[in-house]
Amino acid sequence: MTSKRDSKIAAMLRAGATYDEVRRQLKVGNTAIIRVRYSYTITSPRAKRSADDLARAEAQAVGMLRAGATHASIRAATGLNSNKIAELRRENRIPIPLKNRKPRLVAVDEAFRSYTRSGTDGHVLWIKPAGSRTFDFKASGGRYNARRLAFEQHHGRPPEGRLRRTPDCAIPNCIAGAHHADNRISDRHGSPYEPGSDRPTLTSCPSPTSPLAAS
Ligand SMILES: [Zn+2]
Repeated sequence: MTSKRDSKIAAMLRAGATYDEVRRQLKVGNTAIIRVRYSYTITSPRAKRSADDLARAEAQAVGMLRAGATHASIRAATGLNSNKIAELRRENRIPIPLKNRKPRLVAVDEAFRSYTRSGTDGHVLWIKPAGSRTFDFKASGGRYNARRLAFEQHHGRPPEGRLRRTPDCAIPNCIAGAHHADNRISDRHGSPYEPGSDRPTLTSCPSPTSPLAAS
């Protein structure tokens, strides 16, 4: 279900706010931000349009919904995605066709959890789905990467470039966000890492088994 808080998170992300800014302003955690980013299909933390542009597009979409326009025509006219349009329907109490409701995120979260075990020292072990040779898994028609989801949950931003385990973690199938470095972290620290304030360490991941669960 979409709450007012989720709408605010989505609006900030679309306006180009960083996770840090969203966390401070709305007093929410990374889990909530990531869930909104996926459920609203916000593809990048950097918005492509200004808050004013977005407000105009939303007003137009609401008018079209009230006039009975299809989602496809509203998408074409406003550039908003279906999730956003559905959200506007709910906010403005314009009836939602039941067939449009999607259990997608619940399925992703349940799939992630079913392939994950908590280990000692903050390790989070990935139990591959049958037929998979990577950290990818399928859920509800989509493909997701468990390691990248875990990184995003821990670091409060999507990973940039390649993900590698930090030298501290010797467990090949560990996906803990705290035990991985992306290009941004590696560029800063090199390998092996020099001591630094944001050096990845073997601390426990706060929510190792549920990156998308509602908070
Ligand atoms: Zn580990």
